[in-house]
Amino acid sequence: MAVYIDVIVDISVNSLDRIFQYRVPEELLDAVKVGCQVNVPFGSGNRRRQAYVIGVDTVLAYDASKIKDILGVTKAPAATGQLIALADWMHERYGCTMAQALKTVLPVKKSVKEVKRTAYFLTDREGAQQLLEKSRKSRREKARVRLLEAMLKEGCMSKETVTGVLQISASTMKSILQTGVIREETSQVYRNPVRQRLDGWQEVCLNDEQMNAVASIWQNAAICREHWSREQGMHLLYGITGSGKTEVYMALMEKVLNEGRQIIVLIPEISLTLQTVSRFYARFGSQIAVMNSRLSAGERYDQYMRAKRGEASVMIGPRSALFTPFDRLGLIIIDEEHESAYQSEIVPRYQAAEVAARRAEMSGALVVLGSATPSVAVYQKAREGMIGLHRLTQRARTGSRLPDVKVVDLREEFRMKNRGILSQSLHEAMDACLKRGDQMMLFLNRRGYAGFVSCRSCGYVVKCRHCDVSMTVHHHTLLKCHYCGSEQPMPRVCPSCGSPYIAGFGVGTQKVEEFVQKEFPKARILRMDRDTTSGKDDMGRILQTFSEGGADILIGTQMIVKGHDFANVTLVGILAADLSLFAGDYQSSERTFQLLTQAAGRAGRGDRPGEVIIQTYQPEHYCIQTAAAQDYDSFYSQEIRFRQMLHYPPDRQMMVMLAEGEHDQQTGQAVQKLREIAGEADFEAVEFIGPSRAGIAKAKDLYRYTMYMKHQDIKELMRLRDFLEGYLKWSQQFSNIYFTFDIRES
Ligand code: ADP
Ligand code: ZN
Ligand code: ZN
Repeated sequence: MAVYIDVIVDISVNSLDRIFQYRVPEELLDAVKVGCQVNVPFGSGNRRRQAYVIGVDTVLAYDASKIKDILGVTKAPAATGQLIALADWMHERYGCTMAQALKTVLPVKKSVKEVKRTAYFLTDREGAQQLLEKSRKSRREKARVRLLEAMLKEGCMSKETVTGVLQISASTMKSILQTGVIREETSQVYRNPVRQRLDGWQEVCLNDEQMNAVASIWQNAAICREHWSREQGMHLLYGITGSGKTEVYMALMEKVLNEGRQIIVLIPEISLTLQTVSRFYARFGSQIAVMNSRLSAGERYDQYMRAKRGEASVMIGPRSALFTPFDRLGLIIIDEEHESAYQSEIVPRYQAAEVAARRAEMSGALVVLGSATPSVAVYQKAREGMIGLHRLTQRARTGSRLPDVKVVDLREEFRMKNRGILSQSLHEAMDACLKRGDQMMLFLNRRGYAGFVSCRSCGYVVKCRHCDVSMTVHHHTLLKCHYCGSEQPMPRVCPSCGSPYIAGFGVGTQKVEEFVQKEFPKARILRMDRDTTSGKDDMGRILQTFSEGGADILIGTQMIVKGHDFANVTLVGILAADLSLFAGDYQSSERTFQLLTQAAGRAGRGDRPGEVIIQTYQPEHYCIQTAAAQDYDSFYSQEIRFRQMLHYPPDRQMMVMLAEGEHDQQTGQAVQKLREIAGEADFEAVEFIGPSRAGIAKAKDLYRYTMYMKHQDIKELMRLRDFLEGYLKWSQQFSNIYFTFDIRES
């Protein structure tokens, strides 16, 4: 009997986004399964294409004389039935093609040739112990200490764990192998991962709030396996910075593992540092697999396959880790739930929490969203009882308390003729901090901010030739566009009026560094921004140096505020708090509040009190005031009132349409036409805003227009999107304009 398969061909043409049937030749029958990838002849030229198998059947639904045979089966890892169902849901929800959705749920595309596995074995316990003692005395041998501690505990470790989880460099490994206490062996066999704990792990006794949170979340586990609901399956763990959310996650993870179920832990890529991962590793040992963008293709494949084969039961990674092929998923944790990195910026533009909910529903798993500054939309749901709400209100470590926060008015400084970057208060506090021998962090909102170049005579601003954004100064003489990356030299005279008084305004992290170094010549300074962290290990190295006391001051952008825990930091300076307050979208205040609170939370993590100084031009703004008071609840109540007044999410659901085209006028007319078409159809209840030029009106030589559409019900917006896309497909008028529709769930 002939076997036929239903496939989705990997081709990004909307009109071909449908199922095609092929025949499977006898010799390939064994290899073909639902979820695997095959090569097929496609189109009139019979070009060879990749395709995803989404069904196998014995009934021919096509003209028998025209059906073609598949050419072969690829070695790529196959998607599970659940992930195919998830792709199907994403295809509907986000309006992407089925091929795009399938690609997304298969984060590891190609099978990397199965290399022989390399493992390390402890050969000389005593020697290793001695080496460990010796290495502990040196600050520069932290990696050695880490490796030896783990080896002494585990006896043997795979290379993936050593490089992926412990982040041991090849040179460190080489030097240890030379001592002979560890032996390297390459073979196909691979030991069973046994559950062991590293030395670094210290059992903490959960406090009442933590115990309460664990118990009240866990009591839903059994029910959710039978009958999943959002109220019982999804939980917000709202705990101030340092309140011990991670301990709550780990207690829940322990319970889930004890039941033989699996876990996905999402951490924003930027916080996926050794410091965070090693806490989980210390407790759960080699049951942990890790994904991050720094891994090579081979390493990613190995981590993925360890999870697929059931050798690892916990996957820690950024949002793509949601698609780990676990078949007994019991828990999904999304740490720092409010992070914008959880919203995909490429098609399909999915929101991690939303996909997590869908996946949890399919597997009867729990979802825990953790944050000190929950997104307004999630907190509203929790307050209304649509999802569970659990609070941690105290810092967990005894003696640790929230820092004192002071707000400095920069307008006042200007009046006092202080034209520098540091206010008098911050200057004094830095001086005192250095004298105490403590460490500090200086946080600058956005990299190279307002580093734009303008003419002091005529006001001309140098903009990128391809984008409608101002160029930023780098190293005094080079101008860079942060949007498209193009560069040009700094002009000597104004291109518009010829005046020589043309210069960079404002400061970037680099300028701050120069300025601070001049003010405090003896201070040791580290700078962390996109420029100093372009290499694979740069970020880890800078953080490591700082945490080992290798510098007094860490200057940086957003990157330095994400979840890093430095016990000796007692001062945090926020140089200009309001720069993201006027970013122009409805979430600006929310994002600013989150950043300020996170930054402030970096101070006083150890046993000494911390101090935070916020410099701002808007000291009376509720966002600054509530951030200074570290009062999320009052921020929330003012913010939600503002959203309701202006019909913004979460009060309404919102769809954003973006149109990009080479010709300005034609693109403008196209969006106007869409607005008219929608007006003529039955979408009376939808509120339209625009169309208008986008905030960035031109990017990469394309003109950009937007239109916003709001409605209470997300389904109505999906219907409108499908209607407009249908019109575009059918009319074929605007085929040279790119349209994207983005529906934000709230
Ligand atoms: P969060 O994730 O909420 O920022 P963490 O879980 O990182 O907080 O905890 C902050 C610090 O407090 C960590 O050093 C952690 O080891 C410690 N800690 C957490 N819970 C307890 C507890 N119950 N008793 C003592 N220390 C704790
Ligand atoms: Zn000029
Ligand atoms: Zn540009």
